[in-house]
Amino acid sequence: MSDYILVLDEGTTSTRAMLFASDGVLVASAQQELTQHYPQAGWVEHDASEIWDKTLACAHEAIAKAGGAAMIAAIGITNQRETVVAWDKQTGEPLTRAIVWQDRRTQPFCAQLREAGHEEQVQAATGLLLDPYFSGTKMRWMLDNVASVQAANTAGTLAFGTVESWLVFKLTGGQTHITDASNASRTLLLDLEGAQFDPDLCAMFGVPQEALPRVTDMSGALAVTRPELFGREIAITGLAGDQQAATIGQACLSPGETKATYGTGAFVLTNQGGDVPRSHNRLLGTVLTQIDGARSYAIEGSVFVAGSLVQWLRDSLGIVAAASETETLARSIPDSGGVTIVPALSGLGAPHWNADARAVITGLSFASGKAQIARAALEAMAHQTHDLANAFAADGTAWESVRIDGGMAANDWMAQDLADILGMGVERPDCVETTALGAAMLAAAGAGLYPDLASAAQEMRGQLTRFEPAMDGAVRAARLAAWEKALGAV
Ligand code: ADP
Repeated sequence: MSDYILVLDEGTTSTRAMLFASDGVLVASAQQELTQHYPQAGWVEHDASEIWDKTLACAHEAIAKAGGAAMIAAIGITNQRETVVAWDKQTGEPLTRAIVWQDRRTQPFCAQLREAGHEEQVQAATGLLLDPYFSGTKMRWMLDNVASVQAANTAGTLAFGTVESWLVFKLTGGQTHITDASNASRTLLLDLEGAQFDPDLCAMFGVPQEALPRVTDMSGALAVTRPELFGREIAITGLAGDQQAATIGQACLSPGETKATYGTGAFVLTNQGGDVPRSHNRLLGTVLTQIDGARSYAIEGSVFVAGSLVQWLRDSLGIVAAASETETLARSIPDSGGVTIVPALSGLGAPHWNADARAVITGLSFASGKAQIARAALEAMAHQTHDLANAFAADGTAWESVRIDGGMAANDWMAQDLADILGMGVERPDCVETTALGAAMLAAAGAGLYPDLASAAQEMRGQLTRFEPAMDGAVRAARLAAWEKALGAV
């Protein structure tokens, strides 16, 4: 029986192909690094041809390891969100380098739209803020600045898409130009209540609708690969942006269920059910799932600096040789000795949204050493997440527990500290590849291996480790007070 799911996990720094069995067990994988292009300060670009070539190479490698494509029931794709690819529909070739989500070049255009008083309207419709992070202004920049994009637009052959859209186009030999609703909801061009891209928003951002993909479900018969790629046609039955995929991979399928991913930054999403999120605390509203045309939504909060703080301790300060040493150091002392770090190394994200903020370390004394700094760095994760918990609660979405993943979630001390400071249970799956697993769940349900997504999640999700809050109330209160005071110094 063919019951493997091939997941193409298209990250910012690497592309991976992973084969999951229908019970969620990882059977084989392959990975290649992606070249990061930094043509100017604040600009980040990818070569879309490299993304496609490496995706295909990884897929072939993973398939070979697992003994051939005959076992594959379906393909799921999950991707770095917001990154924009522009290509020619006729040649199938990229017209320019992809502009990556981190790229800040459209800041002036965002400021212009904000000054013109559009932010409230945009936020109400899209759930997003006027920030260069999202795709719409990146498309506009290409139209304004890249001759090949302008020429293709005039000729009517211009195609825009996020990375999953580009890969589907290539996998189908140019037959299918689609984007799934979760990726579409990161463009600033989708009204959260609209089925397709919104004509008024497209006009505001100056993006021609003819160049945009059709918005589709995230699970189901979405597209079919060209037979020559893998020796036979394979159905593409799952598509999702990476954070939505991780939320699904953590089985957060009921309202209130929350996942937090601690990688370079931290991304927290809470399932909102069928209610369109309306944040009053500068959190984002986004599509979580769309299946058979019916949507569920999530509230999202992003923290800019999480694991990158540990990297900074390692690479810039040399306090640790490896990230995992922070755990040993944190355990070697009873507390941080009054040291508190607000890790605003690249500004503060949600719920503060202070791009100009810079980091502070408070409470230093002659007794402060490596261990105190490392411990305070890990403690900052719980503090930042606690701020988000308050913002989510103020928006009417209080958490009961949090499911964590990402590279930093391997740190047991941090996981326990998170439970202690949040005052709630923290759960960590044994398989931390939740993003790829979420895409596999969507694809498995979409291919009919399970009757619905909930059953796929139930069967494919692995074992959990649970951390329960155990901190003394006075200690916790002192920690929170010290954090508030340090925030005031930012
Ligand atoms: P991304 O997907 O954003 O590239 P990952 O999910 O791979 O990130 O997580 C890597 C990050 O986690 C790095 O910034 C690293 O410093 C941090 N990290 C990894 N292991 C640990 C650990 N045991 N303790 C603390 N931080 C860790």
